[in-house]
Amino acid sequence: MTATGIFTIKIHTVNFFLKKWVLHISVLFSAALLLGSFSFKPPQDFSQSAITETPAEITLLFTGDIMQHMPQVDAAWNDSLKAYIYDSCFKYINPWLSGADLTIANLETTLAGKPYSGYPAFSSPDELVQGLMNAGIDIVGTANNHCCDRGQNGIERTITLLDSMGMRHMGTYTNAETYSRKNPLIVKTRGFRLAFLNYTYGTNGITVPGNNVVSLIEKDRMLADMNSVQDSLVDFTIVFIHWGEEYQREPNAFQKDIAEFLFTHGTNMIIGSHPHVIQPMEWHAADSLNKEHLVVWSLGNYVSNQRKRFTDGGSMFSVTLQKEAGHTHIKDAGYQLTWVFNPAVKGRKQYYILPAAQFENDTLLLDLQAQADIKLFLSDSRELLNRTNVGIGEIKCRKF
Ligand SMILES: [Zn+2]
Repeated sequence: MTATGIFTIKIHTVNFFLKKWVLHISVLFSAALLLGSFSFKPPQDFSQSAITETPAEITLLFTGDIMQHMPQVDAAWNDSLKAYIYDSCFKYINPWLSGADLTIANLETTLAGKPYSGYPAFSSPDELVQGLMNAGIDIVGTANNHCCDRGQNGIERTITLLDSMGMRHMGTYTNAETYSRKNPLIVKTRGFRLAFLNYTYGTNGITVPGNNVVSLIEKDRMLADMNSVQDSLVDFTIVFIHWGEEYQREPNAFQKDIAEFLFTHGTNMIIGSHPHVIQPMEWHAADSLNKEHLVVWSLGNYVSNQRKRFTDGGSMFSVTLQKEAGHTHIKDAGYQLTWVFNPAVKGRKQYYILPAAQFENDTLLLDLQAQADIKLFLSDSRELLNRTNVGIGEIKCRKF
């Protein structure tokens, strides 16, 4: 990485740190009001000199696909303010998102400007980015099968907008120069140096335009990335990947082959999305072939207009890393189920991402149909994950 690149990351890290610190304070005070007392623990200094005296810890949270079908765009329009406002979509899940140290989401649309459109060629209002930032999302992946939907303008305008808003991103690049400079995304925070990589299986048959670069699932590319990560001396390597068969609830042979390849070459953790449904999660101790490794095959939809069984919700995945004597390991990992409540408010459909376990027996917010649907989503998801997960359980209550 160039000196300029390192400088940029430090500036972003400081901005990010200040934001999180404000969030930590508000979350802690909320907790104090609820619990009556609390122990105040300031965030750790992440400067080079402050690392490693006590074990450093960081909690990462991942969400699945943020889709923007046209009814969702219409739902965000505020008649009185004459603007798109997304805050209500996240208002029930916001404490979970902002409570983590770093929150990462898949942005499965472009910000190509007007005319806005949903499937099959997505372009969403710029205000979506502000909504994601207000909700506590820190990094978005843009390598997915919809990133080329609106051509060169779609890719480049999305990048320019994210940069101008201070939202970190990975997966698509204006040209080879920015690709080599910004990929992998190295994040230095809370005493850790983390590498993030983002890949997609394809771009819906659309040729990647002009000089743009989309980080595709190609073993040569991945191998080069892994080598680059090793040169960067990172503590932990995370691959955020778009893959799998739509609507299939188990990983396919392609996913398994790619995961094995990535783990063999040094990846610590893989978080997947794209199938629009949840797939299993596995946390494996070190064995004769690999060091400790973890894979979430698919998080499912985070927010979308899809309402069919298995697609009307998804999962968030949280993981706490601990670094002791220079060695980083996974301290804790778990998933939280989310479900999209889609009521008509003043004649227009709305989209609220709910922490599903908290609303499992709700009768105040949810109508009768929603009460049945959220129960079915929870029982379907728990049946699958209880049967297939390895070492990863459900988190029903927020603990940070
Ligand atoms: Zn997709």
